[in-house]
Amino acid sequence: MSVLRIRIIGDPVLREKGQIITTITDDIIQLARDMIETMHNANGLGLAAHQVGVPKKLIVLNLKDIGVGKKDIVLINPEVVYSEGSDIAEEGCLSIPGLYTKLERPYYVEVEAEELKLSNGKTKKVRIKAEELYARALLHEIDHINGILFVDRLDDIKRRVLLAKWRKEHPEYN
Ligand code: ZN
Repeated sequence: MSVLRIRIIGDPVLREKGQIITTITDDIIQLARDMIETMHNANGLGLAAHQVGVPKKLIVLNLKDIGVGKKDIVLINPEVVYSEGSDIAEEGCLSIPGLYTKLERPYYVEVEAEELKLSNGKTKKVRIKAEELYARALLHEIDHINGILFVDRLDDIKRRVLLAKWRKEHPEYN
């Protein structure tokens, strides 16, 4: 396994629409393993393939740190099929390191995906029901594979102010 370079806002790959994954190849399994290592190395709750430069519909989530499980989960072609309610909480992103802001998201979601088991390379269709932080993490990562960053969901003025401040504080990312 290896730690991959995380792409930062401004990198065009973050804006691509993710390709649907039709076949689980060895490359996809390797990518998922490397993404898990990269996520842990960066202390992230989740990571999308776009963030390591691969515009495909693949996300990984750290269920232990999210507080809903013991291990990590790999989801292929995840899609939000239902959402309900409202929850406002602070959110951040490994692709905009150091920028945190409150964002409103649905409180509850249902997500359909193929779950990839790294132990045997097999997938199974799942429908995940999630609330609060787990729902937020799923929504955040699914946004990524559709080319959307969490700051896009803020209103225009707030986004501009926050990003200008962030760029000033983090010249290393410009
Ligand atoms: Zn993110």
